Amino acid sequence: MKFSTKAISVAEEPNLSGKTSSDVISSIHLASTFAKPDFENTIRGFGYSRLTNPTREVVESKLAALENAKYAICYASGQAAECVSLLSFLKSDDEILCFDDIYGGTRRLLSKVFNHFNIKVKYLDMTKLENIQSAITNKTKIIWLESPTNPLLQLCDIKAICNMAKKHNILSVVDNTFATPYLQKPLDLGADVVVHSMTKYINGHSDSVGGAVVLNDDSLYEKLRFVSNSTGMILAPFDSYLHARGLKTLALRMERHCSNALEIARFLESHNKIEKVIYPGLPSHPQHELAKEQMNGLFGGVVSVYLKAEYQQVQVFAKNLKHFILAESLGGAESLFGCPYYMSHGSVDEVVKKELNITKNLLRLSIGLEDVEDLKEALSNALDKI
Ligand SMILES: *Cc1c(COP(=O)(O)O)cnc(C)c1O
Repeated sequence: MKFSTKAISVAEEPNLSGKTSSDVISSIHLASTFAKPDFENTIRGFGYSRLTNPTREVVESKLAALENAKYAICYASGQAAECVSLLSFLKSDDEILCFDDIYGGTRRLLSKVFNHFNIKVKYLDMTKLENIQSAITNKTKIIWLESPTNPLLQLCDIKAICNMAKKHNILSVVDNTFATPYLQKPLDLGADVVVHSMTKYINGHSDSVGGAVVLNDDSLYEKLRFVSNSTGMILAPFDSYLHARGLKTLALRMERHCSNALEIARFLESHNKIEKVIYPGLPSHPQHELAKEQMNGLFGGVVSVYLKAEYQQVQVFAKNLKHFILAESLGGAESLFGCPYYMSHGSVDEVVKKELNITKNLLRLSIGLEDVEDLKEALSNALDKI
């Protein structure tokens, strides 16, 4: 089956037995616990909803199918998914190598929570392979990647880095939130583990927070399943249903997010109030060639821009921007925008923000599914106010 067929048909089996109704979609199973036929057995493996739940299994089966993976486990948020993978695969005294431009929340989790357990993190510019090679030590346990990154939309060569990790017996983990499996499938490129914030494109409608870990290896899965059951950071049934529903239209939505974003990136690049546009689909992006190879011919729905303006004028732009809602998050039907300096990267230390060039005139646009002409007009009008 191809991508959209899997998204729609996996884990949807109308019940034609006549014992229940024959819904064409999987129902929502709210039960916290399931009746057992006797002391030792369960019906179809369902015993208690912290461990497994039929509705959560639907979204897990669909996501695993879309990532060409054997297993997926879904959690209450992207951060919960990251947390469970770190707890499952690390022990005290291990080291992580991490792309320096990762999501602010991931950086906070690693540097301000896991540091209490004597886990060390080295942040590197992973656009250059040699930086990773020279940072590996015999304590390195995980290489943590994100591509494209948030908010600077830098790419890393997933295949080459995962190859290097494999040679050194290091686990490679890829946060695939921005690309989604429609644009890239890290497990096919050699990664061991994929993590997702499903809150963004997978849900796609800004109405549920969720996360997932996706993988192929049986023994890693056993560890993950054990820690998942033990910690209980599960995705609830109703939210599982919303994410499963989102997955059914992921391909359609990504096509539109990406075509709108490319058009807007081109439009902004030629505008005299813009200092710089960052978008992997523009030839001016330093890794445009890698993006063409690695992202299924598409470039994502996020465009980052440096306005040619002082902070006070950036605020004027923000006040005057129609159709884009000033809000955290991305990947929903509606266009959103934010200032990473204060928002997604608010918790990142000042020196680090300076190093990464996360400044007050940098805005991140999540391009939605509206008509692109309306979005361009809105941006143009707000820029005229600067
Ligand atoms: C939002 C996000 C997360 C965190 O996910 P939540 O669902 O908000 O917990 C992790 N990684 C990336 C790239 C994100 O954009």
